[in-house]
Amino acid sequence: MTASAATQIARLRDQIRYHDRRYYVEAAPEISDLEYDRLVERLRDLEAKHPELVTPDSPTQRIGDEPVDALASVRHRLPMMSIDNTYGVDDLRAWGRRVTKLLAEAGDDRPARYVLELKIDGVAVSLTYEAGKLVLAATRGNGITGDDITHNARTIDSVPLVLDLAEPPPLVEVRGEIYMTNSDLVALNERQAAAGLPPFANTRNVAAGSIRLLDPRECGSRPLKFLCHGVGDETGLGIESQTALYAWAVNAGLPVAPRTEVFDSLDLLIDRGTELIEELHDLDFEVDGFVIKVDDFAQQRLLGATAKSPRWAIAWKFEKFEATTRLAGIRVQVGRGGTVTPVADLEPVELAGTTVRRASLHNAEEVARKDVRVGDVLVVEKAGKVIPHVVRVEKHLRTKRLPVWHPPVECPECGTPLVKDSDGVYIRCPNVDCPARCRERIRFFASRGAMDIEGLGDKLVEQLVTTGLVRQYADLYALEAAQLEPLERMGKKSAASLVEQIEQSKDRGLVRVLNALAIRHVGPRVAALLAGRFPTIEKLAAASEEELAAIPEIGPVIAASVHGWLASDYGRATIDGLREAGVRLDVPAAERVEEGPLTGKTLVVTGTLERFSRQEAEAAIRQAGGRASGSVSKKTDYLVAGAEAGSKLAKATKLGVAVIDEAAFEKLLGRG
Ligand code: ZN
Repeated sequence: MTASAATQIARLRDQIRYHDRRYYVEAAPEISDLEYDRLVERLRDLEAKHPELVTPDSPTQRIGDEPVDALASVRHRLPMMSIDNTYGVDDLRAWGRRVTKLLAEAGDDRPARYVLELKIDGVAVSLTYEAGKLVLAATRGNGITGDDITHNARTIDSVPLVLDLAEPPPLVEVRGEIYMTNSDLVALNERQAAAGLPPFANTRNVAAGSIRLLDPRECGSRPLKFLCHGVGDETGLGIESQTALYAWAVNAGLPVAPRTEVFDSLDLLIDRGTELIEELHDLDFEVDGFVIKVDDFAQQRLLGATAKSPRWAIAWKFEKFEATTRLAGIRVQVGRGGTVTPVADLEPVELAGTTVRRASLHNAEEVARKDVRVGDVLVVEKAGKVIPHVVRVEKHLRTKRLPVWHPPVECPECGTPLVKDSDGVYIRCPNVDCPARCRERIRFFASRGAMDIEGLGDKLVEQLVTTGLVRQYADLYALEAAQLEPLERMGKKSAASLVEQIEQSKDRGLVRVLNALAIRHVGPRVAALLAGRFPTIEKLAAASEEELAAIPEIGPVIAASVHGWLASDYGRATIDGLREAGVRLDVPAAERVEEGPLTGKTLVVTGTLERFSRQEAEAAIRQAGGRASGSVSKKTDYLVAGAEAGSKLAKATKLGVAVIDEAAFEKLLGRG
């Protein structure tokens, strides 16, 4: 044995582990696959010359050579619990209220932070690392005991054999999911077909079947992947939150699910989750919902578990349905922001009780990535209320050469040359007056959640735009019954009624208007937050980006979008048009939070006051422009403490929050 061989081997192993991490964990490879293979090759050569230096954790030792006789049963150090399912937002909110209540009962009135993560449709496993080395991998089984699948887990490239940590904890059970990507399944099924073997039905089944194979070489030929989503038993880990755990995992070389985010409130999380559902087609793996977790481990421990499931986590599942059909054609649609999206015209297929004829293909890049061609057999999926999307192409069923689809270079509606979006993924029609864009904008403006103009349906909007009667929102308010009567399916009566409906929509108020304008990142909740702080359009338009970002729950991204839109020529002209048309651009006085001495301040009331009931005190805070909160945090400006104030007072003192008595409170209100 030479010292230099040992050093070289150690260096090569470090390099390979480094590049594994760049590839599997950070999705940012630095070297080509060929260069990577060369490193492994050099390590193999050296190890062949020095067999005494081969250790089981060497990257060359992933594939064991001997099949096992049977899967041994192993007991988990801590049970692997299942997570309760919900299918709707109402159930989620009920869960959130229960979390708040249970925490308060346990004496913890800190508002919980919530982690939103993708629920990968794979196979749950537990990986045990001792002193940083993988010693055991097991399936979940019944939660108490599972099957020993160490021989197979070792073949999965994204399962580190050694944690990449200078000081690994003595013990950690890493919990996570083994899964397969859609593109890997497509390739695998092509190989199956070439070998005359039956195709696999879906990614979950292959993952579940492969991980339990007796022969690790066979499992190693299946392209499986791993993602970490929790921790079981551990010693010396010293981590106190879910988010800190994920940071640790990435550092240790364990991949975590993309798009994991943490939120200060469940409402914000639900808003983001609702958006995210529509982005899931971007992912190359199957997601059947989200998992929501209370971030703080101390709070997780306080919440505990039922016999079956932890109380600090819940799954927000979508009802998912899949069907297989043939692609008859691809056409493109222009959205209200000008985005041009390809749409799949399908041979009609039954899906979740409805006949599906269309599926979204989202963008040209996705068509290319999934290699979707007219004539292909596709797997389409419907999740929640979202329109169906294409999961994958059954390429093994492609019997003849099919032409590659190319996106159009000109807008199909107005002929304007299309441009690539700044992110390079979407193509857009840059013409603000494009009839397709006008149509989509007006449709959204009139929709139920926006200005709610009854009787202004899709067909009618199309006619109004095509005839040139309506281009801008304000044009709606200039329509006269006589202009509407000649339109298709319009009579004297319906024309008069529509004019009346449009007239009524003038009084919806600022919150609805802000939502209806389709400003990026502004939905109903953000609209309400903006209008709550700046109750007239003039005040909102005069606000600086910093002032907008300072509104609770509004971050810099939303602030920049709103500020940019209001300051743009288009934004100003739109607002001026609506104002001239007589559309109400403020919050009605009855709903308004007045500016006052407490504007921008958050107060918590505790204990018994002499001259106010709790409700009266909180109403007085709101009338003075302040926010009345139920719990003390670092963001609390004042704690109003009456007689017999308890835990909140102790907490405010600990956090250094200003504590005031009733007299000082009255002075703050301007009544002293
Ligand atoms: Zn156009």
